[in-house]
Amino acid sequence: MFEKLALIGIGLIGSSIARASRPKGLAKTIAISTRRQETLDEARALGLGDIYTMDPIEAVRHADLVILCIPVQSYGAVMEKIGPYLEPGAILSDVGSVKEYVTKAMAPHTPKGVHLIPGHPIAGTEHSGPSAGFPELFINRWCVLTPGKDVDPGAVSKLSAFWSALGSNVELMEPANHDMVLAITSHIPHLVAYNIVGTVADLEQDTQSEVIKFSASGFRDFTRIAASDPVMWRDVFLTNRDAVLEMLGRFLEDLSKLQRMVRVGDGPGMEALFTRTRKIRRSIITAGQETAAADFGRPHGEARTISGPSGTAVLDGAPAPVVDVNVEPQQPVREHGGGDDA
Ligand code: NAP
Repeated sequence: MFEKLALIGIGLIGSSIARASRPKGLAKTIAISTRRQETLDEARALGLGDIYTMDPIEAVRHADLVILCIPVQSYGAVMEKIGPYLEPGAILSDVGSVKEYVTKAMAPHTPKGVHLIPGHPIAGTEHSGPSAGFPELFINRWCVLTPGKDVDPGAVSKLSAFWSALGSNVELMEPANHDMVLAITSHIPHLVAYNIVGTVADLEQDTQSEVIKFSASGFRDFTRIAASDPVMWRDVFLTNRDAVLEMLGRFLEDLSKLQRMVRVGDGPGMEALFTRTRKIRRSIITAGQETAAADFGRPHGEARTISGPSGTAVLDGAPAPVVDVNVEPQQPVREHGGGDDA
């Protein structure tokens, strides 16, 4: 499909693109460029590409598809470097989680004749780096493309076909609309998760240990989201500020209403709200964006390390083995072809 695919950045998303496109023959040559030598060495050891370089200019030379897979605030500096070396007729895209900002950062450095089509695969996990990627990440996930009005429709079709071949469902959107929708579906949930886990991080030591020990309930799910890459998420909140603040305002109004329901003991009000929210979850499962398996399909029944003096803990009302909180699972939990998005 493409002669040369240049991936600028080879972390979770870049490496997943490489892993998925290679066996499908979507590019004859894959050139990989990254900032640090150790990341490049890791990508080479994993056999993710054909050309490995610290120089993004070398990567984009003669490339007919260039995809930026780096934190969004680093686009300006990288685009300044590679802009003059982009091939006429090439497609220039990205995977950044915000779209208005990146369009403004990329457009001034995009030469005439190069097709700028920003993109965002709504798929991801809380892990980072080349080893975190996996080829199934994009399967049955949305990939949003935000081409400008004057972009060649043939180039848009070609990039759409690329993402479809990676397993994604492709949708075209306006950048501002994308940013507003993602603010509520992804950015605010991350903000809430960072805040809840941050509150626990500030608790005094004894209480914090107990929270961690009994974290099988909702808190555990928040910790997974709050473990997402700090630099990437810093950039999301710095570059999608208006949409995030708009949605945060609505969220806080609703939280105040809920606070009142709790304070005045409005049982019917809470029940009505929770019934509505349960329906939203069911509609996400029906749309194929989540598994219906209990507890996100996590494996159960196998205690990992039993530790501590307390023997058996009661989790969510049911007796369960105590799990050593210091033991990290060996494999990230993959939820239905990806899990968390950004
Ligand atoms: P990642 O695993 O942390 O990898 C980041 C890559 O960018 C690495 O190759 C890193 O290079 C490079 N990089 C970091 N800072 C840079 C800088 N200042 N200049 C140049 N290169 C730099 O990140 P990721 O999760 O793949 O995210 C990459 C992009 O995908 C972000 O824009 C993010 O918004 C978007 N995205 C992420 C997710 C998700 O769930 N993670 C989902 C959808 C979209 P070195 O390692 O060599 O420093």
